[in-house]
Amino acid sequence: MSTYVRHSHIRAVQRGIIPRWRPGTLHHRSLHQEVRPGHPDTGAGVDHGSVKDNIAVKGFPTTCASKILAGNEIPFEATIVTQLRGQGFDVVSKTGMDEFGMGTHSTTSAFENICNVPPLEKYSAGGSSGGSAVAVRSGLADLALGTDTGGSVRMPAAYTETVGFKPSYGMLSRWGVVPYANSLDTVGLLAQTVGKIRTAVIGRGLYKEHDYRDPTSIPISVRERCTAQREGYDCFTPSLATLTLQGLTFGVPLEYNIEELDPRIRQGWSDACEEIQSLGARVVPVSLPMTKNALSAYYVIAPAEASSNLAKYDGIRYGHRDNEGTSDTVDGILYARTRSTGFGNEVKRRILQGTYTLSSEAMDNYFIQAQKVRRLVRRDFDRIFKLANPLHDEQAFDLSDMDDSVKLENKLGPTQVDFILAPTAPTPPPLLEDVLNQTPLDSYMNDVFTVPASLAGLPAISIPMDIPVNRNSEEEQLLNFGGLQVIGQYWDDARVLAVADRFA
Ligand code: GLN
Repeated sequence: MSTYVRHSHIRAVQRGIIPRWRPGTLHHRSLHQEVRPGHPDTGAGVDHGSVKDNIAVKGFPTTCASKILAGNEIPFEATIVTQLRGQGFDVVSKTGMDEFGMGTHSTTSAFENICNVPPLEKYSAGGSSGGSAVAVRSGLADLALGTDTGGSVRMPAAYTETVGFKPSYGMLSRWGVVPYANSLDTVGLLAQTVGKIRTAVIGRGLYKEHDYRDPTSIPISVRERCTAQREGYDCFTPSLATLTLQGLTFGVPLEYNIEELDPRIRQGWSDACEEIQSLGARVVPVSLPMTKNALSAYYVIAPAEASSNLAKYDGIRYGHRDNEGTSDTVDGILYARTRSTGFGNEVKRRILQGTYTLSSEAMDNYFIQAQKVRRLVRRDFDRIFKLANPLHDEQAFDLSDMDDSVKLENKLGPTQVDFILAPTAPTPPPLLEDVLNQTPLDSYMNDVFTVPASLAGLPAISIPMDIPVNRNSEEEQLLNFGGLQVIGQYWDDARVLAVADRFA
């Protein structure tokens, strides 16, 4: 086995930061003493970037927090990292995560769990991009990259009082990102402010960039068509004008008011609605009836795709190899041993689950059903958004000349809202001790508010939300925040960011 995992490495992972690896030595750049040189073009200070450990960065290992990839270095760099470097970002660290992105609290890493920043070290930092959120929150990074398959950027943002943005599916390149579930995976960004993310994605034009090496990257012609449909809003301009909330309608999904919702989060959500109304917007109740089923569908589709993606880790081609006691590769002992010792429990659980739901006897009852639910989830959203979905609702693309009955038919229901406003997580950050005693199902339940947008491929952002505190409880005084999500129609990323910027 590789000797990559050493104590200093483990300590660094514990803090959420994986240090730069140089052959034979471990090198962690001393960030505090560093002078930030000016950007060669703009003269502005160089931003420090941190990158989740499932995204390839030259000169750093890419382990996905898994023993099976310990010491693995990808010989090329992810497109998104190169793009950000072009914007003046200097990658200073790679950050810890849940193994292969499977988890909600950054507690399934093969190396070490991640905790929240002081004084919240006893609490979950969220997952699976917990390390990136901690890097941002602690000031080590100005901007961090994570991946969001079912909430992994938004959840850590909600638990660390930072901002986490998941773009529309296919907007940002995933080339050089180790896949978890291809039909859901997106690269997301975390920062202390919305403005930082808005500048990188919209202001500097990341959203325009197609990557021919990523087959799911939206082609230029479609990007232009989608953008043209939203141009009237003037929030794609590099000047990033402030968006007025006057005339905008926000939907509050009734199905998100679940029994398990912490009363403090419910209150914070309701206060946020009032505040947004006081800024001139309208807030109306909407129904997303597929919400509960979305969670079940997600936990069928994501493991199914993962089981297929992870089949390549067999100890033959690359990564960890366990051939102790045998040199036999023919009867599968090497393969079985490698995978048994290389993957952690949560990953194995997902592989088993995914393999089962894709098997001939279970396929119809699970995988196919889940795909149908996924379509209904998307319909739920298309039904309530004012804007048509430019990918799935082609005829509704320009309805201006049609009469109302045609409009309604194409919209699958009455035109209603610009955005959805919902909590990111049902509770404030939970105690790590409690999380470690949870059943896997309890932890999956936590994703109930984040997976619907993932299944529908929609842009969503989590921003910090104030919640009421009980002055007599020391604990509650620490946890005076939750996460508030703004979800928009497909390719409405610029407005989602503009609204969040206005509101945060
Ligand atoms: N918690 C979810 C899961 O475990 C989301 C993970 C993610 O977005 N990478 O699958």
